[in-house]
Amino acid sequence: MELTYKPFELQLKHTFTIAKFSRTSTPVMLLQIKHEGETGYGEASMVPYMGETWDTATEFLKKVDAGQFTYPFDFDEIGDYLDSIAPGNTAIKAGIDIALHDLDGKLKGESCWKILGSDPAQMPVTSFTIGIDTPEIMRQKVLEAANDFKVIKVKLGRDNDKEIIQNIRSVTGAPLYVDANQGWNDRKKSLDLVYWLQEQNVLLIEQPMLKTDYDGNAWLTERSPLPIIADEAVQRLPDVEKAKGAYHGINIKLMKCTGMHEAAKMIAKAQQLDLQIMIGCMTETSCAALAGAALAPQCDFADLDGPFLTSNNPFKLPEFVDGKWVLGDEAGLGVRSLDQ
Ligand code: MG
Repeated sequence: MELTYKPFELQLKHTFTIAKFSRTSTPVMLLQIKHEGETGYGEASMVPYMGETWDTATEFLKKVDAGQFTYPFDFDEIGDYLDSIAPGNTAIKAGIDIALHDLDGKLKGESCWKILGSDPAQMPVTSFTIGIDTPEIMRQKVLEAANDFKVIKVKLGRDNDKEIIQNIRSVTGAPLYVDANQGWNDRKKSLDLVYWLQEQNVLLIEQPMLKTDYDGNAWLTERSPLPIIADEAVQRLPDVEKAKGAYHGINIKLMKCTGMHEAAKMIAKAQQLDLQIMIGCMTETSCAALAGAALAPQCDFADLDGPFLTSNNPFKLPEFVDGKWVLGDEAGLGVRSLDQ
């Protein structure tokens, strides 16, 4: 097995602002793993607030012995091996895991979604995220998104949450997801806001309070008429069990949980615990988005808009119809370079 990689600076269409951060590009590592004439494509999207960089990824990759990846792949064993190299580094671990899944599908002549047991007919719509910006630019972004997307996701968590929603409501009545990104801190005010948001056709709330405030999030979840979904509070498999009681559901992101294999286990665990499931993404290319899309039919909500937020995606944009990713029949993930 031959593992190669190259850093790539993924440019964002608009400056992306959430409750605490702002940026114009995302460092990405693009990976290829080759075996018996087939190439698996992988991607690590390293958003700055998660702490990984091209340097940490390169350092990690130098320690990886691709000879450990013997075919047929034992993904449990591979996951344990990667975790044994270093804790953390979840995005670059996900990049390797995605490349191996793509390669696995190609070697089997089967699409990844089929191997993972997904039913394309169950594909949920994908929300499109509007970052915090001036009211005029936010209205413009909403109007741009209105043709392709059925649900808009809005980043809240500052002191002008109602104004932001009213601004969006001045141009569309489309259903909304709200992501507070841990920005709320007063329980009673948060609950009042949730009821108000429900009247505004908001369908769910992501990570209302600090990820460390288990009791605060649990208090709100117990009383909220809308599903409360954990995001920052849940990264890997053991966190799923901890979310039970404090949230109605979890948001799974491949870059936080080390990739498709662990994500599939988190989905199974969440279903067992009767938690709702959202599959999310980072700003990323079609490669990682296709990896998420392969699992999305097993989830209740999808937030896989990454490639749409970027301006130099090095891969073809997969088919997107009626607000949903379309899963093709190609072997592997269906990642195609622009010249293919
Ligand atoms: Mg979030």
